[in-house]
Amino acid sequence: MSKRNPYLASLPSGYLFPEIQKRVNAYKMRNPDAQLISLGVGNTTEPLAPHIVKRLSEKAAALGTTTGYTGYGPAEGYLELRQKIAEVIYKGRVDPDEIFISDGAKCDMGRLQHLFGDDATIAIQDPSYPVYVDTTIITGKKEPVLLPCTPENDFIPDLDKTPRTDLLFFCSPNNPTGAVSTKPQLEKLVSFCKKNKTILIFDSAYAFYIQDPELPKSIYEIEGAKEIAIEVGSFSKMAGFTGMRLGWTVIPKALKFSDGSSVWKDWDRIVSTFFNGASYLTQMAGIAALEEQGLKEIQDTIQHYLENGKLLRQAFEGVFPIHGGVNSPFLWLDLGKRDSWEVFNEFLEEKEIITTPGSGFGPAGEGFLRLSIFGSRATIESLFAKIV
Ligand code: PLP
Repeated sequence: MSKRNPYLASLPSGYLFPEIQKRVNAYKMRNPDAQLISLGVGNTTEPLAPHIVKRLSEKAAALGTTTGYTGYGPAEGYLELRQKIAEVIYKGRVDPDEIFISDGAKCDMGRLQHLFGDDATIAIQDPSYPVYVDTTIITGKKEPVLLPCTPENDFIPDLDKTPRTDLLFFCSPNNPTGAVSTKPQLEKLVSFCKKNKTILIFDSAYAFYIQDPELPKSIYEIEGAKEIAIEVGSFSKMAGFTGMRLGWTVIPKALKFSDGSSVWKDWDRIVSTFFNGASYLTQMAGIAALEEQGLKEIQDTIQHYLENGKLLRQAFEGVFPIHGGVNSPFLWLDLGKRDSWEVFNEFLEEKEIITTPGSGFGPAGEGFLRLSIFGSRATIESLFAKIV
């Protein structure tokens, strides 16, 4: 028999969401008629925008014709989509050939780890999206340095106390805390990375939830960021593509390794080795999402979710202090140092509401509970009766 990969063996057991599912299933077995309300995993619930569906149907039908059929596409994605992202999302701040289309931000997080050797040192916000820590460990790197993000530091790592690392993962709007970084905060982060020659991996998966024009939606709104930052984006929460699967990664040509070689060139190599391009139909749907009509329709859905966020804030007002939920799809409830799995169980057993315990996102998440704003209006309204 082959030996088990020691890095996989050293992963902390049980990814957060399977454990939640286990507890939910056990509850359902005991209570088969339970009408559970899920504010847990953060999956989108509303249908795709009509403009996107129309394009998908047209392109799917065309695949059944000789002229409309396509086989393998470019591994880095169709140029039309890359151009659309450069124009609509980045307002020309990045070039289309700096954008690599993917099958989702999570998949690219894993692939990005292969850009760096196993001696690379990594800093990660705590709490954070678990994939940053897990992919760091699976690819054999050292234990990451965790940067506590708490109400005391406004959920932004204290950079004066942060050691230098080769890489730094950062997410805004943040999963799970719901914190959205301001321009001065991101300027400080970029200058910290520049000073330390640290590559910043900026996760902008929730950028479309930012409605306040003063808040940056991309790290490239910060001067000098192209020399130090990679940005990972996603259509999942922006256009309801959680099941369709589409994302992108921006690797600026100006970004270099310590020996002066091009990060872009190595990423191009990794993408063409590990990946064979996102689905053609999904990419065509992505183009439709970024057209005028598509943008209007996806914003309507985002408004629906943000309105859910307002209702959730109202429902939990006075129950626990609330962070997030504004310009962001997550609320972060402060449990006043109570154990987050214990409160998770209480919500499940007493109110039939599924939440996510903060400790699943890192040690600094203990004492908090995450709620996501995804759901139908009827679901969120039915929650009121249980809470208020
Ligand atoms: N980044 C963050 C912060 C997320 O919360 C998620 C999904 O929950 C992802 C990335 C993954 O996005 P995708 O569906 O594009 O893989």
